[in-house]
Amino acid sequence: MAFEGLTERLQNAMKRLRGKGKVSESDLRDTMREIRLALLEADVNFDVVKDFVKTVRERAAGAKVLEGLNPAQQIVKIVDEELTKTMGETATPLNKSTKIPTIIMMVGLQGAGKTTTAGKLANRLKTEDKARPLMIAADVYRPAAIDQLVTVGKQIDVPVFEMGTDTDPVEIVRQGLAKAEEDHNDYVFIDTAGRLQIDEQLMDELARIKELAHPDEIMLVVDAMTGQNAVATAEGFNDKLDVTGVSLTKLDGDTRGGAALSIRAVTGKPIKFVGEGEKMSDLDVFHPDRMASRILG
Ligand code: GDP
Repeated sequence: MAFEGLTERLQNAMKRLRGKGKVSESDLRDTMREIRLALLEADVNFDVVKDFVKTVRERAAGAKVLEGLNPAQQIVKIVDEELTKTMGETATPLNKSTKIPTIIMMVGLQGAGKTTTAGKLANRLKTEDKARPLMIAADVYRPAAIDQLVTVGKQIDVPVFEMGTDTDPVEIVRQGLAKAEEDHNDYVFIDTAGRLQIDEQLMDELARIKELAHPDEIMLVVDAMTGQNAVATAEGFNDKLDVTGVSLTKLDGDTRGGAALSIRAVTGKPIKFVGEGEKMSDLDVFHPDRMASRILG
């Protein structure tokens, strides 16, 4: 279960306040220390934790809270609101072009879940909006990547444009977009190559694809289970490509929650979707408020 440890620790941190008619400065200090430790243990970015604790402390220290009715309940509410704010406040929809096709470029490290997420998103648009997406296989370094996209395409009944592994990815994208135009597809997903870590060559290639395709959405896919590495990856991709949105995958296996809580605050870019399983239907819109409630348990 996601956030298992964090939920338990936050609940414990706030339990000691419950039942107190009045919360003293030292009670508050102890609680804030525990919240801070809980967040750090959940692998939340250090600066994010610092800002978060400072804001909650300032708000909670207000006389109205400490001396008012039910201070514990009010502090829980403040933590809930600030968690929501840290994660971006409200859900951010997928960017959409005013004329078809809307072009979505999927980027991220190898294994993060790009291909799976492209399939999940295409499937969602197809079933919910009756959209007609096309997926372009632009990862020419791993033949298995193309096969995987083709398999996903068959599974969700979405066409895949591929030219094998011998053509330059930028040329594949150019021809794929021409095909989409010809077939009047309303969405195009570009499944790009990933590496085990960020390198210049990959970034240059992605920049060239971006320049050619002018994507409406550059969707960075990051693996929630990698915690602060996911945050560093997000910063790296965002610096080079100015991404427009983030999809956080494998939340089903993430017991800590550090990536979900840090990415928005560190990069300024919204988490738009979360993946919580391997099935094509395992994709949800990211709602910061619901996530905050879930974290608080
Ligand atoms: P890519 O290299 O970035 O294209 O990554 P893939 O799409 O091939 O995904 C890598 C692995 O992660 C695959 O085995 C996927 O089934 C798995 N995966 C992707 N998203 C999720 C998710 O949200 N939850 C779980 N449990 N597995 C996922």
